[in-house]
Amino acid sequence: MSESDSQRRFILEHTNVRGILTRLDNSWRTMLEGRDYPPIIEDLLGQAATAICLLSATLKSNSSLTLQIQNGNPVTLLVMQVNESQHFRGMAEWQGEITDSSLEKLCHGGQLTITIEQESGERYQSIVDMHQESLAKALHNYFQQSEQLPTDLWLATNSQHAAGLLLQALPEQNEDDDPDAWNRACQLANTITDDELLELPTEELLHRLYHEEDIRLYESSPVAFRCNCSRERFADNLRNLGEKEVQDILKEQGSIRINCGFCQQQYDFDSIDAVQLFTDNAVPELPPTQH
Ligand SMILES: [Zn+2]
Repeated sequence: MSESDSQRRFILEHTNVRGILTRLDNSWRTMLEGRDYPPIIEDLLGQAATAICLLSATLKSNSSLTLQIQNGNPVTLLVMQVNESQHFRGMAEWQGEITDSSLEKLCHGGQLTITIEQESGERYQSIVDMHQESLAKALHNYFQQSEQLPTDLWLATNSQHAAGLLLQALPEQNEDDDPDAWNRACQLANTITDDELLELPTEELLHRLYHEEDIRLYESSPVAFRCNCSRERFADNLRNLGEKEVQDILKEQGSIRINCGFCQQQYDFDSIDAVQLFTDNAVPELPPTQH
């Protein structure tokens, strides 16, 4: 289906309401490959992936976005990132048994942050209150309390797909715009079921919700799972550890094996690599003086 792994923007004509629909299919399954996440964690990851793809579509291009939950219990870490090319990656770590699916209970005592990084290097970080039933509700609440554009989102996941809808009210309103459009659009979106969000083709879904509105639907843009890890990045991490530490690990284990937490790519460094790590990094000797 051409709509797989894509985002589509739309606007409700004669209103200040715009929306985005995101579907993750193959990309979502690829992210889960070889993982053994408990179903509740898998759901949370799917919601996080869909949410950041939706949120990044509302930002200026060339921004990357990270959603991070840390130091919670039982979810000790969850990281989901999307870059300016709409490539996302994510992972989660947890401890103990996972029984309660509410966000508040899953991430008890932890912190949820959203970080936007612009190409220029500027960074903005927001802390999102997690005392909510779901990630969508926490984000809804965050937008209500912050001085940002009125925004709401609906997220649904299963092991095959993750999908979401985001609505946003733009500040500019024309005289003939319907002042009640935002409330109406949200109320109608509240009637959508998870199955409809996950299964219905975009046009059918929009018709189901907004058949009384005039909808302008834009072309879809692709979304993909991709990790930007590299051997060089992990080599830098080892350099940061320091030569002595690296030699100690080598003495103990023979070689150093690093698995990327996002894509599970494996990187091996043996003792010869280790020597190279630190000679490559050495200050080059000055060239001999010419006479
Ligand atoms: Zn990776």
